Amino acid sequence: MELKFMADQNVGKLAKLLRIMGFDTLFFDGEDDANIVAIARAESRIILTRDTQIMKRRLVTSGQLKAVLIESDKPEQQMQQLINTLDLDRQAKPFTLCLECNELLLEKSKEEVKERVPPYVFKTQSQFMECPKCKRIYWRGTHWQAMTEKLKKFARKGG
Ligand SMILES: [Zn+2]
Repeated sequence: MELKFMADQNVGKLAKLLRIMGFDTLFFDGEDDANIVAIARAESRIILTRDTQIMKRRLVTSGQLKAVLIESDKPEQQMQQLINTLDLDRQAKPFTLCLECNELLLEKSKEEVKERVPPYVFKTQSQFMECPKCKRIYWRGTHWQAMTEKLKKFARKGG
């Protein structure tokens, strides 16, 4: 089954890393625990939290709902924890989700994005994706490459 997540505000950077890897990840922020648990259950999302209260809820302790208590406050170590516990890297689909909206990106032809990306990018890149919601254009630029390298390193460390 496809892994989907629900991350609390304390692990926001981790949530973005997950989106980079192509994992559908929602944020929750200040809502009450019961509501969070209900959404996660309805949508089969794994809760990622630093809040021990959520871990004590009946649905979680009984195993009906999966939740991971994130140990570190550093995003890279948080990611390492998930890779080690959930075998994440094997299921990653990088470059498929908008980092801001969590929307599935749509492939665009070079011609379609011509007026919307810097000339250098247009000249050097061949694959473009667009977020249907915020209309941001994505391409495999240096930032994306750096992230991919980083994720590969995690995967190797996790063994
Ligand atoms: Zn977007």
